[in-house]
Amino acid sequence: MREKIERETLEMDVVFVGAGPANLSGALHLARLVREHNEAVGSGKREGKALGEIEIGVIEKGASVGAHILSGAVMDPRALRELMPDFEEQGAPLESPVKEDYFLYLTRQRAIRSPITPPPLKNHGYYIVSLNRLTSWLGEKCEEAGVNIFPEFPGAEMLYGEDDRVVGVRTGDKGIDKEGEPKENFEPGVDLLAKVTVLGEGPRGSLTKKLSERLNLNEGREPQVYSLGIKELWELPDDRYPAGCVTHTLGYPSDAKTYGGGWIYGMQNRIINIGYVTGLDYRDPLLDPHAEFQRFKQHPFLAKLLEGGKMIRYGAKTIAAGGLYAMPQIYADGVLLVGDCAGFLNSQRLKGIHTAIKSGMLAAEAIFEALLAGDYSAKQLKRYEELVQASWIMPELRKVRNFHAGFRRGRWLGMANAGLQFITGGRSWGLFDRASGEPGHEALEKLSSYGYKGDDISQRYNGLRFDGKLTFTKLTDVYHAAVKHDEDQPAHLHVLDTNICSTRCAEEYGNPCQRFCPAAVYEMVEDGADGRRRLQINFSNCVHCKTCDIMDPYQIINWVTPEGGGGPDYKGM
Ligand code: SF4
Repeated sequence: MREKIERETLEMDVVFVGAGPANLSGALHLARLVREHNEAVGSGKREGKALGEIEIGVIEKGASVGAHILSGAVMDPRALRELMPDFEEQGAPLESPVKEDYFLYLTRQRAIRSPITPPPLKNHGYYIVSLNRLTSWLGEKCEEAGVNIFPEFPGAEMLYGEDDRVVGVRTGDKGIDKEGEPKENFEPGVDLLAKVTVLGEGPRGSLTKKLSERLNLNEGREPQVYSLGIKELWELPDDRYPAGCVTHTLGYPSDAKTYGGGWIYGMQNRIINIGYVTGLDYRDPLLDPHAEFQRFKQHPFLAKLLEGGKMIRYGAKTIAAGGLYAMPQIYADGVLLVGDCAGFLNSQRLKGIHTAIKSGMLAAEAIFEALLAGDYSAKQLKRYEELVQASWIMPELRKVRNFHAGFRRGRWLGMANAGLQFITGGRSWGLFDRASGEPGHEALEKLSSYGYKGDDISQRYNGLRFDGKLTFTKLTDVYHAAVKHDEDQPAHLHVLDTNICSTRCAEEYGNPCQRFCPAAVYEMVEDGADGRRRLQINFSNCVHCKTCDIMDPYQIINWVTPEGGGGPDYKGM
């Protein structure tokens, strides 16, 4: 029935999908390039034709710009300075310049301070930011520059013309009930037609995934590898951890086979931001990244730091960590990929805001040239890749191109490789070449081959208690992510074959979705019928981190966009 719906068509020149730092910077830069060009041509300072009014739109699935934006974050300001040299005077919301930098190795009981901070983790000259606030501010700048921003408009489908040319994007329908039927408030999605569509959906974008499959954008590339970052904001009772203080940790609670590390960043008003990253190429089927984060907080160093404090916010998000070798082709007919969905993150420095902003700006420059040429073909848009190659992004990513591959052989070889790369500018002479070799979910071992006996799936975290003060259940944490979804809508987690969940997956892996999801979305419940348990999907808890789409061992989970406006609200995160 929904296929027969009549949809409004809206013609724009350029549509950016996702209001993250890459797309907002791209939209802002493009609006300025067009305005400057028109003014220069109008005043006779530049030859050629004025471009006239160029309609630029940014669509965003969240209820507001920044609502779904989550990051550490320590920002290298290099790209923001290029976008807006006077960003401080213009009121960019910066928590604090980085004033102190520490690197700790955590054993079970001790925190051993490294006498030197490893150079990639030195943050002098950078800023601690709330990326939610920074993007919200960038959104205001875009609107001042004439960019149209549409919150609550998820990109649901790519629109294709002849020969697979991308001609725009269809936004999601509103007001569909859980049976898939229209409700009284039904509003069909709109077909936004554009000369160029820019995907800036963040890691594992749902449109990017389908587009890449259809146009083979990953051909000849390594599979992307991801990590999951889980984070809480805490309000401390005193100034024991000052604004501007940055600590990174390695070691506990990760075992030496698992990629993981923590951070503690001091923000304003006695708030600290703590988090833990787990590589989504772990082998232990009973590992639970949220439980790892709880254990991280139980370390004596963290527990003492957090004593008397109060957890106020929670969030989780994946990070595309594969680097240069895992980047897809970033252009095709009518479309460009920017930011995390194109894999621009520097995983060694744990930083991607600066490369995201820069990639958005370079996309804007390529689009500007395409507008002048009136040509939106892949041949013309390849200019974006040329600009990326010629920019500072490439030398930076080239130096860390083999970083993640080293950790595939465990923590110690990974660290040795990281050191080697630093000295050699990224070379590793075949020892740790390439990004990963296999998608992360293929590293997951079956219960029996990992050495687990019996069917007790809680055995890895038997001693872990949630006291509601230092450690929290997933449900308590989700409450602090302010997640909202209308429950009367179809689940946006599509599990292609739920039979596998009750049979093969239960036996082979003990249903790892219950553990890798940091929001308690997946639950195996008693069925009563044949004694098997069945999968229940509590989709309204979903914080849109995309871990399930990435980590499911059978690759039968598809994350698609829910109704616009649904999801977390990462205010201040
Ligand atoms: Fe993340 Fe998937 Fe869980 Fe949603 S359902 S919170 S996307 S793992």
